[in-house]
Amino acid sequence: MKKLFLIIGAPGSGKTTDASIIAENNANIVHYSTGDMLREEVASGSDLGKEIESYITKGALVPLKIIVDTIVSAINNAPVDNVLIDGYPRSEEQMTAFDALVSKEDNIELTSVIEVRVTEACARERILGRRAEAAPGEERADDSEEVFNDRMGIYTGPLAAIQRFYTDKELLTIINGERTLEEVVAEMQTFVSGKI
Ligand code: AMP
Repeated sequence: MKKLFLIIGAPGSGKTTDASIIAENNANIVHYSTGDMLREEVASGSDLGKEIESYITKGALVPLKIIVDTIVSAINNAPVDNVLIDGYPRSEEQMTAFDALVSKEDNIELTSVIEVRVTEACARERILGRRAEAAPGEERADDSEEVFNDRMGIYTGPLAAIQRFYTDKELLTIINGERTLEEVVAEMQTFVSGKI
């Protein structure tokens, strides 16, 4: 049985960094970031990658089928049973689609949804700071202020509905992301360890 933890958070919340540190420190946990998986597909130069790129550069969500296929294949191919996926769901449509999928699957349990919470001001400062500090050529194409605003809007739009849905299922846990990386990781680690 695969135990799945979904990690959501604003751009700049640190969710990908937090989850990857936990996976590095625990041989029985694997981590996938939806953004990283999509960027890998773009880097491969495939036709699918070209389609994905047109959404990422605008800060828009890739279509439902692409993202669902991406995470389902990540879960199925995961080499260990405890799987952290960050960056999903980002819409009510994704949430509902995934819920339907998991309820049909005997082999996957949605164990928890972790929200790494930061204020918009904190997210903005981190993202635009990340851009300023990136080496030339290493900047993420979607770290501009305009695209940040679009990504933030896309994140906050469905957030209340997503929080309500998982709160009703007693699956939502909120972690304060506005602390040091070590503190956030420690809290997430303790929480995940308690569930596996
Ligand atoms: P991230 O690295 O998590 O900030 O994601 C970067 C970009 O990848 C997003 O702005 C979207 O274009 C795309 N993306 C990541 N996760 C999803 C998702 N769950 N659904 C649709 N598009 C996504």
